[in-house]
Amino acid sequence: MMVEIFSEVEDEELIDTISKGLVKAYNVKVIVSRHKIGNAERAYNSRRKQYDAGILVNLFLNSVKISELALIITDKDLYVDGLNFVFGYAPGRAGIISLARLDQRFYGLPPDRRLYLERAVKEAVHEIGHLLGLHHCRDRGCVMFFSNTIEDTDRKGSVPCEACMSRIRV
Ligand SMILES: [Zn+2]
Ligand SMILES: [Zn+2]
Repeated sequence: MMVEIFSEVEDEELIDTISKGLVKAYNVKVIVSRHKIGNAERAYNSRRKQYDAGILVNLFLNSVKISELALIITDKDLYVDGLNFVFGYAPGRAGIISLARLDQRFYGLPPDRRLYLERAVKEAVHEIGHLLGLHHCRDRGCVMFFSNTIEDTDRKGSVPCEACMSRIRV
């Protein structure tokens, strides 16, 4: 299985850390592409000042040919209908993660680079888990636990629990 990473954010260390996290969790092959989402402004909701994650992923899928699975990394703040925000979203063959709420500064706290990278890995491994057929898990330590808050993300681990691992489609 191969995952192509498309990052809107130029941060080599971040992309590299996420790649390693995906390899560690799923033993997938990861390649990094340089393509950006075209027409992203179409997904912008000016009332919410956020981007519709589903529209963004569709715009992406309409403009890029992906071979297997794709992970989009963005710094745009995302939402889906019915939720105030989402850390990520994975409707089909492509998943997206948002870095907007992973930075401690978003919560009025001093920056913490290590924590930021750790959170990004967890959200990436979570969304790719969905692409591999996993659903949300009740185990708070499992990466597939649904993060309602950043505390949920910080509490969970960066790999799926054994039960989830056994359910992965390969
Ligand atoms: Zn999820
Ligand atoms: Zn699990």
